[in-house]
Amino acid sequence: MKLIFERGKEGQRCSILPPCDVPEVTLKELGIPERKEKLHLPHVSENELSRHYTELGKQVHGVNHGFYPLGSCTMKYNPKVNEKAAALPGFTGVHPLQPEHTVQGCLEVLQQTEKLLCEITGMDAVTFQPAAGAHGEFTGLLLIKAWHASRGDRKRTKIIVPDSAHGTNPASAAMAGFEVVSIPSGPDGCVDLEALRQAAGDDTAGLMLTNPNTVGLFDRNILEITSIIHEAGGLAYYDGANLNAVMGIVRPGDMGFDVVHVNLHKTFSTPHGGGGPGSGPVGCKAFLADFLPGKQVRCSRGDGEKAGTEEAGTEGTRTEGAMLHFEAPSRSVGSVRSFYGNFLVVVRALTYILMLGREGIPAAARGAVLNANYMMEKLKDLYPVAYDQTCMHEFVLSLEGLKKETGVTAMDVAKALLDYGIHPPTMYFPLIVHEALMIEPTETESRETLDTVIGVFREIRETAKTDPQKLHDAPHTTYIRRPDEVQAARKPVLRYEFVEKEETV
Ligand SMILES: *Cc1c(COP(=O)(O)O)cnc(C)c1O
Repeated sequence: MKLIFERGKEGQRCSILPPCDVPEVTLKELGIPERKEKLHLPHVSENELSRHYTELGKQVHGVNHGFYPLGSCTMKYNPKVNEKAAALPGFTGVHPLQPEHTVQGCLEVLQQTEKLLCEITGMDAVTFQPAAGAHGEFTGLLLIKAWHASRGDRKRTKIIVPDSAHGTNPASAAMAGFEVVSIPSGPDGCVDLEALRQAAGDDTAGLMLTNPNTVGLFDRNILEITSIIHEAGGLAYYDGANLNAVMGIVRPGDMGFDVVHVNLHKTFSTPHGGGGPGSGPVGCKAFLADFLPGKQVRCSRGDGEKAGTEEAGTEGTRTEGAMLHFEAPSRSVGSVRSFYGNFLVVVRALTYILMLGREGIPAAARGAVLNANYMMEKLKDLYPVAYDQTCMHEFVLSLEGLKKETGVTAMDVAKALLDYGIHPPTMYFPLIVHEALMIEPTETESRETLDTVIGVFREIRETAKTDPQKLHDAPHTTYIRRPDEVQAARKPVLRYEFVEKEETV
């Protein structure tokens, strides 16, 4: 496929600027140095431009193209009404430095979303600054660190992370300056409590728990886990990136957790993948709220008298005559990102939560769990499940047996799915399962779609027996077959090299 720079030719345009109605000035007159090299901009007609993006759209796989069971990523359908709300000019046309009284509606969005997320997670305050889940983890750990430091307790240098945690957990803990202590899972896929008791001590700053964990299980000992950590004097962090299975049903705050992050770009329905804007808000209990980064929206009375943060903070919406304003928490860890985070992602999340409402949120969670268990039950005779228990929003298959028997790997099966218009599941993750395929169907898929996909998996299993080579060679129908992934990771080509064309005058 041609790149946009290779299409069209100099002089072609898809925009017509209105006639200039102000005096023309050159950059030189303004004292701005002129560029020395040619500026490479595409020159295409509107028709060419439209074809270019349509072509690009055909070569990717998105939720709008088909089934996308990428475990741990919650590729659910994102209702278009969210986009409509996020595109309202009152949200897109504002500037973060605008005076507060001109953006009261935007502040209300932040305040309302904070209130709803507090209700969903069982926390007392939320920051929207973190731009993604891992960024939220880092931020949450800074809160934990600041809290211990504020008490003069400086020997707490370790964060305990079970081996079934998401890979970002130990990475974030290390980035925040902690020593990571890994503890194993038991044969049931849950945290080994004995190992946890051994690891917890007066050097424990906290624990990070991914729940449901990366094998898709809700840790049955969760209350005991948080109390072991609290007894040791540490704080409990809940990785709620995948809140999809539990939202509206149980709350991390009620399970003893002190800090949680959620991924608005997974659970709360913002399109993601390809690195688009995300949002990883962090919620915490009241005793940590003073350490939050950035600024919090607070309510002040109309006469200018500020209400106490307690009553005005996340409680209640704006009353007549009251003004919303930003306030930096008194012992803030500082800023982790500019301004107020990815605001339009928050708008999408608020739209989504309000559309679903009090009944819809837990119904979505139940749907996610039901769909995952349905698929798991229909596949497990041919593809063994790593941990054969009722799962949450996702489940992990182990293709180790298939590989031994037929030579067909998890990679081959994943690639074969592409020929059926299905995005592969997450592969070779979590690391504690060999030849893993991690499948998350999400609640937005119909029974009919699930049955079709189950049929495809069963057909591929049959092909593995009769024609394994076909699977080794898959995919057969895609634009790119099997890219050299090592090369792509080690020697990425990130820049387009322009070949100077002869200027035709
Ligand atoms: C996706 C995910 C993360 C990381 O979120 P990013 O937005 O990709 O940084 C962390 N934990 C879990 C359990 C996740 O699924």
